[in-house]
Amino acid sequence: MSELPYDVDRRLDDLFGRLDELSFDQLGYPTNQCFDYSSLFRFFKFSANNVGDPFHESNYRVNSHEIERDVIATFAQLMRLDPNEAWGYVTSGGTEGNMYGLYLAREIFPNGVVYFSQDTHYSVLKNLRVLNYRNIMIKSQDNGEIDYDDLRETIRVNRDVPVVILANIGTTMKGAVDDLHKIRGILEDLAIPHSYIHADAALSGMILPFVDDPQPYGFDAGIDSVAISGHKVIGSPIPCGVVVTKSEYVARVARSIEYVGAMDTTLSGSRNAITPLFLWYALQKQGLEGFRGQATEMLNTAAYAVERFNESGLAAWRNRNSVTVVFPRPADHVVSKWQMAPYEDFAHIITVPNVTRDKIDAAIADCVANPRA
Ligand SMILES: *Cc1c(COP(=O)(O)O)cnc(C)c1O
Repeated sequence: MSELPYDVDRRLDDLFGRLDELSFDQLGYPTNQCFDYSSLFRFFKFSANNVGDPFHESNYRVNSHEIERDVIATFAQLMRLDPNEAWGYVTSGGTEGNMYGLYLAREIFPNGVVYFSQDTHYSVLKNLRVLNYRNIMIKSQDNGEIDYDDLRETIRVNRDVPVVILANIGTTMKGAVDDLHKIRGILEDLAIPHSYIHADAALSGMILPFVDDPQPYGFDAGIDSVAISGHKVIGSPIPCGVVVTKSEYVARVARSIEYVGAMDTTLSGSRNAITPLFLWYALQKQGLEGFRGQATEMLNTAAYAVERFNESGLAAWRNRNSVTVVFPRPADHVVSKWQMAPYEDFAHIITVPNVTRDKIDAAIADCVANPRA
C-alpha cells in the first residue's frame, strides 16, 4: 500500500478550523451564514444533474427540475411576474444570471447598445466582453445611483439603435437602486421604440419585496429579466442564484439554437441539482413571512450600525432600504480582520443575519482606534 504524502484527515481538519474561524468575523460580504441544510445531505449520494431546460423533459432524469420550477415560480411572484408567463433557472450565481439577461437582450436586439453605471458589478463588463455587445458606461451619482442626466444625453445621441439598460437594484458597494420609473420616463421622452431592461438584483432582490415602501424593482416596473443571488440573502454553502425572465423571450433563443437537439436554453450544460434544493428548502422552511422578518431585522441592524458609527465620530450612511453600511476606510489590518469590503477611501459592511450588533460594536471600536494612515 502506498503511503499518502500527507495526513489527509489532518489537512481537512486544518482547513475546517480555518474556515470556521474566518466565517465568524466576516462583515463585508453579503453572505448569510445562518442556514442548516443538514437534512439535504443525503442527496449528495446521487450523481444528480439538472442539465437542460427545467421546464422541459430531459433524457437525464436524475434531476431536481421539479423543485427548480417551484423555486422559479416563487421568485417570479416576488418579482411581480405571473408565474404562468415566467421562465428561469437556478444559476451558478449573479454573474451567470447577468450574462443570461444580456444574452437574451443581444439575441433580441443584436444591434443594441447596453447602458450601465460606473457602480455596476465587475461581472457585467466581463459579460459584455464575452458577448461582444456594444456598450457605454454612464456616470454614477455620489450615492451610487446612475446619473439620469448623463443617461438621457447619451441615449439621445444613439436614438437610432435599441436601448438595453442594465439597472442596478442594489449596487455592490453602496446598495444603490437605479430608479426604474425615471429610466422608463427617459425612454418615453426620447420616443425609443425598442428597449430591454435587465435588473441586477443580486442582493436587494431578496430585500425589496419584503419592505413596506420599496423602490420600483420588478416586472411591474418594466424590467424584462432579473438576476438574484441565492448565496447572499438566503444563504447557501454552494454559490447559486436565479435568473427570471418572460417565457416568450426564451422561446426566441430556444428556436434559434434548436438545431442542436434538446431545449438547450441554459448557459451551462450540466447544472447543479443540489442548489435548487437549498433554495427551495429555505423558502419552504422560512416562508415568505420568515424572509419578511429577516429583511426587517437586517434593515434594523443596518440602521443601528449607521447610528453607532456616527455616535463614534465616523461619518457612515446607507441608501434607503439598503443593508449596506458605508463608512470611512479604516487601516488595512482592520479591513482584513473583519473582511470588510474596501473601495478607494471608504469601506462597507453588510448586515446579513450573522452580522450581529456585538460584532458591529467591536468592529466600530477597531475603526475608531485605527484610522487609515
Ligand atoms: C454579488 C453581486 C454579483 C455577482 O454575483 P456572483 O454570485 O458573485 O456571480 C452581481 N451583481 C451584484 C450587484 C452583486 O452584488
